[in-house]
Amino acid sequence: MRRKVIAGNWKMNMLPNEAIKFIEELSAQVKNTSNEIILCIPYTDLFYGLLTAQNTNIKIGAQNMHWEEKGAYTGEVSGQMLKSIGVEYVIIGHSERRQYFAETDETVNKKIKSALQNELKPIVCVGESLEQRETGNQEEVVKNQIKLALEGITKEDLSKIIIAYEPIWAIGTGKTATSNDANEMIKTIRNEVLSLYNEETAQKLIILYGGSVKSENSKELFSTSDIDGGLVGGASLKPDEFAKICLSV
Ligand code: PEP
Repeated sequence: MRRKVIAGNWKMNMLPNEAIKFIEELSAQVKNTSNEIILCIPYTDLFYGLLTAQNTNIKIGAQNMHWEEKGAYTGEVSGQMLKSIGVEYVIIGHSERRQYFAETDETVNKKIKSALQNELKPIVCVGESLEQRETGNQEEVVKNQIKLALEGITKEDLSKIIIAYEPIWAIGTGKTATSNDANEMIKTIRNEVLSLYNEETAQKLIILYGGSVKSENSKELFSTSDIDGGLVGGASLKPDEFAKICLSV
């Protein structure tokens, strides 16, 4: 059976003192769960977050990285740099990065490869826009994103990757996909992985749902056959609310 994973994405929120307080409060509430709990936090919080999360069951991730190891890329942070301070996870290809920072399927693929080389575990985001859903193209769009993201990735490396299906129209809008629709799309992703790799690899892959997850809907979403947990934005900014989500399954 696949483990449940709940990952928070703080986006551009939380100063170091707030991050420390949050992790202290959250860790006390989730210490007995066997669900995997990850917080993807701003670069400026990483060091403090890692120290505070030591000896807890909370894992720390970043929200982006560059694919090159080092060089003249002003303002960027590499996988090697993240690894050097003990970061374990990194979100790659979040729709906000695709939308505002020109992230493409090609750069997503390069970043995944660089993350794996640096022994970071990528949380790879895919998902369709409202227009793509309204025109009935959502499955093709997401299958294509998966195919391009995973180009050249071995099945051994795929076991270190988490996929997050995040329909863009559901992110930060309060509109959640129904548990049935989200589960169906995640089954489609699993089938695509089956056709690219094999049955065992597809069955083992952790696939999360993201898009306005909150404590009122998390149990229903996470109890479906194929949704293995959530990538949570807004509702990951309050420790009590996020703890409820982490403990809902
Ligand atoms: C996200 O940022 O990945 C996300 C899903 O945000 P929200 O939960 O706020 O919709």
